[in-house]
Amino acid sequence: MSNPTGVGTAHRSSRAALLDSIRAAGQISRVELTRETGLTGATVSTVVRRLIDDGLVVESGRAESTGGKPAVFLSLDLDARFAVGIHLDHAGITYVLSNLGGAVVGRWRRPGAGADSPEVVVARIAAELTTFVARIGVDPDRLLGLGVVSPGPITSSIGMVLTPPVMEAWTGFPLADALQEAAGLPVLLENDATAAAIGEYWSGPIETSTCFAALYMGTGIGAGIMVNGDVYRGATGNTGEVGHVCIDIDGPACWCGGQGCVEALAGPAAVVAAARAAGLKLPGRGVVGDFAMLARDATRGEGVPRTLLLRSAAYIAVAAQALANILDLDEIVLTGPSFALAGSLYVPAIRAQLTRSFFARASHQVAVVISPHASEAAAIGGAALVLQSGLAPRRSSQRIPVVDGRPTLEPSR
Ligand SMILES: [Zn+2]
Repeated sequence: MSNPTGVGTAHRSSRAALLDSIRAAGQISRVELTRETGLTGATVSTVVRRLIDDGLVVESGRAESTGGKPAVFLSLDLDARFAVGIHLDHAGITYVLSNLGGAVVGRWRRPGAGADSPEVVVARIAAELTTFVARIGVDPDRLLGLGVVSPGPITSSIGMVLTPPVMEAWTGFPLADALQEAAGLPVLLENDATAAAIGEYWSGPIETSTCFAALYMGTGIGAGIMVNGDVYRGATGNTGEVGHVCIDIDGPACWCGGQGCVEALAGPAAVVAAARAAGLKLPGRGVVGDFAMLARDATRGEGVPRTLLLRSAAYIAVAAQALANILDLDEIVLTGPSFALAGSLYVPAIRAQLTRSFFARASHQVAVVISPHASEAAAIGGAALVLQSGLAPRRSSQRIPVVDGRPTLEPSR
């Protein structure tokens, strides 16, 4: 790590900075923490003592002695706290339970919201959550909260404020409050792409000094943006909507109200529609199911599916380049269920585009990789959102009511 992560920078407190440094390092001594964070030895010592007393950090061995007293290593107690991530979609609801390090210890896929009313779905989620946690055998007292990921745009106080047509009933529904009431745990809401970016950061090998974007493709396309470990949220937490950049002013209408958007021209729904128009037989299992079949056929050989997917990849490469040019990115991580299926076709197209025409290419390359958790990235990100907001909050983090590493349901807003 090239940048100290001290309290003067992005973290809300010295406690947050230290916990985040211990998480990122895996194992680290107090002396190294002092160097890393820029905090004094006395502060490191006091705060680490409190983290150990709260059960979040443990002493995990000693360094090789170099003559003097060997340094004691610190690491997270991974089973000290857990968080649940929920990806709420009309086609499916995915639950994951992550430990303090962000590793998934349990997952469950259930039927989606479908045409049920939000009230019915919230009651079902609360019941399924109890079953899920009991089945894994985690003490509910160790749960920090729920991170719910749903299609954007969202607001933390209301929920979804503009929904894709299939989830219209959810527009304006107070999702966080209703679920908090039903489940008895703090609830945070986030859009899929931003959650995925936080998930990559919390559990992945991303350096704290990296400026990266998680380019997320599910049924839509968006990007979560992270700068030096801090999410870039914009005015209301709805940044990175690269799928709704217009690349053809005479292009087709998009559900967002725009015209000729990247998503309308090249998103999974557009690919599926083009395949139908070309006379291909599709299973009719919704956009993701039909796109999955096309992706499978496209990766196996030539023909119409491959032509359509490569055309989509060419458009999305242009969108990725726009994002990289505006933000001067170090890295783009492709994630979400559609990249999980077809990422191998999109990576070369995006790499080639950036090599050819990324504005700052003379200074540095932009790494393009597929997330190892692409298919469940939204739910994993929901859990990571809770861990980061609750235990190592950044200035940009949503507020989760946690006192001494324990959730509290006292009103936080
Ligand atoms: Zn649009």
